[in-house]
Amino acid sequence: MTTPLFDKVALIGIGLIGSSIALNIRERGLARETAIATRRPETLARARELSLGTSYHLDPAEAVDGADLVILCLPVGSCGAAAAAMAHKLKPGAIVSDVGSVKAAVVSAVQPHLPAHVHFVPGHPIAGTEQSGPDAGFKELFENRWTILTPLPETDEAATERLARFWRATGAMVETMTPEHHDLVLAIVSHVPHLIAYNIVGTAADLETVTQSEVIKFSASGFRDFTRIAASDPTMWRDIFLNNREAVLEMLARFSEDLASLQRAIRWGDGDSLFDLFSRTRTIRRSIVEAGQDTADANFGRQKPRKDAWDETGETVPGE
Ligand code: NAP
Repeated sequence: MTTPLFDKVALIGIGLIGSSIALNIRERGLARETAIATRRPETLARARELSLGTSYHLDPAEAVDGADLVILCLPVGSCGAAAAAMAHKLKPGAIVSDVGSVKAAVVSAVQPHLPAHVHFVPGHPIAGTEQSGPDAGFKELFENRWTILTPLPETDEAATERLARFWRATGAMVETMTPEHHDLVLAIVSHVPHLIAYNIVGTAADLETVTQSEVIKFSASGFRDFTRIAASDPTMWRDIFLNNREAVLEMLARFSEDLASLQRAIRWGDGDSLFDLFSRTRTIRRSIVEAGQDTADANFGRQKPRKDAWDETGETVPGE
């Protein structure tokens, strides 16, 4: 075990992200103490059963008492209230951060509650799954994934660097940018794709001429990958869209324009335009694989497709 980066870390919220951080602290020895706070006694009891921390609290103020690093691991819409509840117990010099998927709204909600004697360094690990709760966490979640830190102009650089070291110790790569730029980037790489997935799965569920059983039976033909995204936590994603409204609407406007031109190309039989776009998008996929952000294996590396599995070409995928 290396020298811990912090004496005491407080994790406020212990779902997928909080428990993954807790496992990193425990397994990699990143802090001497980990105080865990969450809203519901049953979640806290589960965190205790999983030995995710060294102390367990229903009151966030109790958890942050004496902590050098406090990370809010809550839905974006709950961060302001948590900051208000714990502010009076924050230790001078403590770093306060979060993991919310939206940054500008978290800054506006949290910053007014924080005393001048703490360092606020908002953050967002670009890593996750569609699972929630303290059982969902795993130590490798952040490995080879980016964590974006969005320090404010007045944030102490040493505090940002100390937090960056913490994230690098989990295996993450760290980049800093402004909260506003983060929100714009994430709108296109994450928020709009989720909205499209929620929409397409919703549309399929509402169809009257294609039955639900057919949608499920033939889901391997592309739809299945949307259903994985559309199974993401409803509270978290409601909060993301309510709190990143401007950037999402801006990206959706661009998306709608491009969709309209695809519609036109299909209507007028403009195969060249379709082919050009599909060739450009294929190179984006290759770049993502080359950057180590996904596997090059067929079917996202899913193991052993069934013998009768088939893809969207209608051909049988080689199975066992
Ligand atoms: P999660 O698994 O659903 O856990 C949420 C935690 O927040 C639980 O401890 C829950 O407490 C608590 N909580 C929920 N609603 C609350 C409320 N209204 N007031 C106070 N506490 C509340 O969530 P998660 O996936 O870890 O996400 C946490 C944050 O990470 C979110 O801001 C999300 O945007 C961000 N994030 C998520 C992902 C992802 O893929 N999931 C990736 C990157 C960042 P109880 O169980 O006690 O109610």
